[in-house]
Amino acid sequence: MSTLLDDLRAALGAEGIFTGEAAAERARSPWTRLGAPLAVLRPRSTEEVSAILRLASAAGQAVVPWGGRTGLVEGCQADGALALSMERMNVIEDIDPAAGTMRVQTGCVLQTACEAAEARDLLLPLDLGARGSATIGGNISTNAGGNRVLRYGMMRDMVLGLEAVLADGTVVTALNPLLKNNAGYDIKQLFIGTEGTLGVVTRAVLRLRPRPVSHNIAMFAVDDFDALPRVLRRLERGLGGALSAFEVLWPEYYELVTTPPARGAAPLLRGHAYYALVEAMGGDLEADGARFEQVLAAALEDGDIVDAVVAKSDAERAALWRLRDDVGQTARNGPIIAFDVSLGIARMESYVAEVRAALPGLVVFGHLGDGNLHLIASAGDGSPATRHGVEEAVYRPLRARGGSVSAEHGIGLMKRDYLSWSRSPAEVAVMRTLKQAFDPRHILNPGKVLGPTDA
Ligand SMILES: Cc1cc2nc3c(=O)[nH]c(=O)nc-3n(C[C@H](O)[C@H](O)[C@H](O)COP(=O)(O)OP(=O)(O)OC[C@H]3O[C@@H](n4cnc5c(N)ncnc54)[C@H](O)[C@@H]3O)c2cc1C
Repeated sequence: MSTLLDDLRAALGAEGIFTGEAAAERARSPWTRLGAPLAVLRPRSTEEVSAILRLASAAGQAVVPWGGRTGLVEGCQADGALALSMERMNVIEDIDPAAGTMRVQTGCVLQTACEAAEARDLLLPLDLGARGSATIGGNISTNAGGNRVLRYGMMRDMVLGLEAVLADGTVVTALNPLLKNNAGYDIKQLFIGTEGTLGVVTRAVLRLRPRPVSHNIAMFAVDDFDALPRVLRRLERGLGGALSAFEVLWPEYYELVTTPPARGAAPLLRGHAYYALVEAMGGDLEADGARFEQVLAAALEDGDIVDAVVAKSDAERAALWRLRDDVGQTARNGPIIAFDVSLGIARMESYVAEVRAALPGLVVFGHLGDGNLHLIASAGDGSPATRHGVEEAVYRPLRARGGSVSAEHGIGLMKRDYLSWSRSPAEVAVMRTLKQAFDPRHILNPGKVLGPTDA
């Protein structure tokens, strides 16, 4: 083993490898369990990533890619593995305003990339609570969703091309900058949402959009679930495609984020059945605002909405989003288990009712416009048996309704027992075939997604 570490030190330089206490220090994250890596590697270039994988592959040594380590399914757990941290590969190489593209090294933090786009009057539309730590590479590898999927799609829709290094060190450069390119297989898709199990993504070409001029946000309340999809469709139709978020807060979540120790104040009276935060982004400051209020007013008049508040300043807009994003409040009464499920809107009400009957303290919120709910349950005594019981209570009714166990966070280690509840045997078999073809020695993020025996 020391030969491998010596070879890696020679390839990366002293600053490029941490072992012992220095490695242990970096293996801490408030969000996820990272385990005890053999070493933390910090390459500066694609060539160094390639050298690492060549050496690791020859030695049969596991390698776990690390981005911002904000992933929520233990995809970065690196017990006994080489943790390959992308932190020093964070350069924004190019922004092309005419083409509307950005080429970036994947260790770049999402917020940094978004701010660089904004400085050129462009928009990188991905937005999520972990924006200040999550990296472009992590976003690609998890096919991150976030707050604006309704309008701009998931990360997959923002990636035009990428460069990845395979398990044996081969560099696959597929930095396509074109919006349309049907010349053969679209190789990049293999590395989007595959959680670092098929390759390490080192660079990417991202699609940027014009930076919106108007930014309208409101929160409203409804008194029955059926009103939610009605208002969603009304806003979609009435705003001509400008609707960018439709987030729903179940009353327990609203209560948590608007009562101390939470710092948020309640913008609407408590006691309603559901609360929704809606956001629209457009190109005409005055007309967009008027249209936004008009559509909401019509919904209020017809009784679909029972109360509403429209943010009038940047501070008010930020305050409404802060309520939605104050997810930490869900853990204030003890350890929790968080779920990230996907299902048709028409099935949500009965689904939540069934899960709640089994787990009375359940807290629910989510990107309803995308069919994505976050369910938060108490972890109880924290035992594996309790966890298993909670998972069954959440996933069984979901399976019966054709839902997915992961809308956006991925499978990692935490959900792999339930992969087959959302994917057919044929789909899982294709996943195994791909894994075997790309990584026959199973050194890349081993055990993640498919599990050790399945890989
Ligand atoms: C407060 C909070 C809010 C969040 N909100 C959302 C949300 O709204 N939507 C959403 O989708 N997610 C959300 N997440 C989850 C998380 O932020 C995303 O999954 C994010 O995309 C992970 O990026 P990261 O750089 O932290 O990746 P990491 O956690 O470092 O890695 C995630 C996975 O990708 C692999 N990986 C990382 N970098 C690379 C690379 N360069 N090449 C190959 N594999 C790589 C890792 O091995 C791991 O399997 C949230 C997390 C937190 C803590």
